[in-house]
Amino acid sequence: MENQSLLDIWPYYATIIANGLVGFGLIVLIIHFVRLSITKGYAKKYDYLNKNEAKYLLVGFISLIIAVSLYMNSAMVNFFSRGGVFELAIGLFISSIIGVAFGYALYAYLKFYYPSILEEKLMKLRFKPRISPETGNVMKLLTEDEEDVHLTDEMIEHEESMKYEYDVWMDEASGHKFIERYDGQQHAKLCPDCNFRTLKEYKEEEIQAPTQNEAGLGKKYFKCSYCSHHESHDVKIASLSEKAKML
Ligand SMILES: [Zn+2]
Repeated sequence: MENQSLLDIWPYYATIIANGLVGFGLIVLIIHFVRLSITKGYAKKYDYLNKNEAKYLLVGFISLIIAVSLYMNSAMVNFFSRGGVFELAIGLFISSIIGVAFGYALYAYLKFYYPSILEEKLMKLRFKPRISPETGNVMKLLTEDEEDVHLTDEMIEHEESMKYEYDVWMDEASGHKFIERYDGQQHAKLCPDCNFRTLKEYKEEEIQAPTQNEAGLGKKYFKCSYCSHHESHDVKIASLSEKAKML
């Protein structure tokens, strides 16, 4: 009797929860796209996408997946509750398996495939030709060698320690320039083994401590979360006098 009444009310509550999750998931996704569209400026959009998009997509789609599983679940409970407990157990099992399968597919997509898609969007934003507000000309993106004279010591230090990357855009006709800053660490790199953008820094160590006037040497370690490829790179650590200048 007890079981019977739970089975009678479960589809009703499962559907209410599922409706709530659909609403919540859609609101999360809408908020994301609205925030993205009102973020002005390529560098700001880049930063926003880089830091937030994966989180919004995960929360939004997980809510929708759980909602769909609950709809299926309540439909199966309705259908199978006319049969016995065995049929009911099979119904619950099937709807959970389908929910877990979709959840795993979403996880795998966000972890392995999505980083490359995000990177492509980010690169488009970063390298889209900028228009000079003064002359309307297409501005030139300076190369690493050309840009250094326009960067402060602090900025060059950031680039060498891979903390930030800077782009200098120059309007050659008027000399108007602007500098855009990108987070160098958020950024997963392309794995040379599996070609997924899943290579991330996980450790940094000091090999040679910097002295007052001499730069030190450090090592950054990267690991691919898809194929476990490892690599390391030497990085410069600012001398103590340079560090003091930055403060
Ligand atoms: Zn890899």
